[in-house]
Amino acid sequence: MLAIGLTGGIGSGKTLVSDYFAELGAPIIDTDIIARELVAPGQPALSEIAATFGTDILTPDGSLDRRALRQLIFDQPDKRKQLEMIIHPRIREQVKNRLRMLNAPWSIIVIPLLLESKQQDLVQRILLVDAPAELQVSRTVMRDNVDPDEVEKIIASQTTRQSRLDAADDIIVNDGSLDQLRQQVEKMYQFYNQLTDSCQSR
Ligand code: ATP
Repeated sequence: MLAIGLTGGIGSGKTLVSDYFAELGAPIIDTDIIARELVAPGQPALSEIAATFGTDILTPDGSLDRRALRQLIFDQPDKRKQLEMIIHPRIREQVKNRLRMLNAPWSIIVIPLLLESKQQDLVQRILLVDAPAELQVSRTVMRDNVDPDEVEKIIASQTTRQSRLDAADDIIVNDGSLDQLRQQVEKMYQFYNQLTDSCQSR
């Protein structure tokens, strides 16, 4: 099984790209979804987060207050590290379990902060969705109705565009229309089929 890590900066188009891959029939493991499931009410990771950061990061109904947690860790690397130590090993375990259960020649693992969280060892190939910062900002502002400054701060806190380009095996450039994006995904889908076909026939 070839595990392909799909990554890219905020608002680059990862969700759209993974949706297009899913429409074509590619298996998708999305670590954002796994992370959300792991912190659902009643999950051990949520209790551990509340024990570490205090019950202020819970909403009155006992679910995780994402905004409060984001604000708490944003400028505090030690706190961010603590959170990662709770979440990352569980995400890794889930990804490995799901990969074991899949019966397919390749799959896409969506890991937005693949490089920042040094999870490269989970995947054998890196697929980057690349977009210029101006488009990352305008798309995220439109999608989330947030201030451009807020998005720029997040971009600055993530790894650089160049370091992503350096690490990528494959690149989808998302600076055009949705049609152009879909066509690139279709090409990449064929490419991964061919790549795994040629490995299997060896
Ligand atoms: P995040 O890291 O914030 O989760 P993401 O990388 O998953 O973001 P998307 O949510 O796929 O990015 O895209 C960001 C927004 O930009 C979405 O509203 C999406 O519909 C829009 N978008 C992405 N690419 C294009 C495009 N080529 N043309 C028009 N809109 C686009």
